[in-house]
Amino acid sequence: MNVINNGNKGKKKKPKTIVILDINLVLRQFSRNPALPVILIHTPAEWNPLWLNHLQKNHTIGLVPTMGALHQGHLDLVKKSIEKADITVVSIFVNPTQFNNQDDFAKYPNTLQADLQILEKAGVDYVFLPSVETIYPSLPNLKLDFGDLERVLEGEFRPGHFNGVGIVVSKLFHFIRPHIAFFGQKDLQQVAIIKRLVNDLSFPIELEVVPTRREKDGLALSSRNMRLSPEERQNALILSRSLEKAKARLLGGKVWSEVQKEIMADFENLESSKLEYFALVHPETFELIQNFSPEEKSSICVAAFIGEIRLIDNLPIIP
Ligand code: AMP
Repeated sequence: MNVINNGNKGKKKKPKTIVILDINLVLRQFSRNPALPVILIHTPAEWNPLWLNHLQKNHTIGLVPTMGALHQGHLDLVKKSIEKADITVVSIFVNPTQFNNQDDFAKYPNTLQADLQILEKAGVDYVFLPSVETIYPSLPNLKLDFGDLERVLEGEFRPGHFNGVGIVVSKLFHFIRPHIAFFGQKDLQQVAIIKRLVNDLSFPIELEVVPTRREKDGLALSSRNMRLSPEERQNALILSRSLEKAKARLLGGKVWSEVQKEIMADFENLESSKLEYFALVHPETFELIQNFSPEEKSSICVAAFIGEIRLIDNLPIIP
């Protein structure tokens, strides 16, 4: 693993000398060899000369934004990027401005050393590890409004969340300037928000959406799963199971309001759970659907607390 030193803030720096002396950096610029160690970068100033070099070599750059505590779901995104782009950058940044719950932010899992080993093994080229000061030299006054897209579900239950997501993703796009960025279908509403962001601000970036990775028993992988007790882990299956059950009921001809009632009762009967929403929506506009039609695209989205841990999941019905 190679770290570009950024520890001399305020002193006269000679970063170029350090960069040129790093043999792995030099090799990285001439070939894409998965055996090369991953290179850690912390600031846009470190990344800019590397970016320019890759651009001059006509390399395409893939970006996988994450908050760390990596699991196989993240790795699916990484794999896709390695497949599609010449160079893969994974960012790890737990973005404070997208947490509406400070306890959730404080307790967000941090497994940085394991993450770096996983990424190195996966053949990632660069890991971008910015500090809070690098991302937010000052807190932005800007407020993004995604209209109806953020008035429901995650937007409704996590006020300010998508504003934080939109701003941090915009900054990552500006800093890394990728050709392609990879996001998980697990966060379906986030995908719709990022598509709108890219469209409305004309980011010249292609978006690639990767399907949700699940455990064998159906639980969607999430960094927050690490915080579940063994009993809560078992209870958390109610999310994926209720999605599958609702899908079967809908396709079997039951009306949505009845399906919803049945699922709400299931959650009420499970002591440690608290349902926030269970909704049938159009997967791009997030318009709520009351009357299911096999002619119209639809997905079911769910959010619930299992104990203190808030989990989300979704399932396409008509993709
Ligand atoms: P996070 O670290 O939770 O912000 O997630 C980083 C990226 O990984 C986001 O685009 C997520 O949608 C994606 N992701 C998280 N969990 C999964 C999963 N189980 N399957 C596929 N992608 C996922």
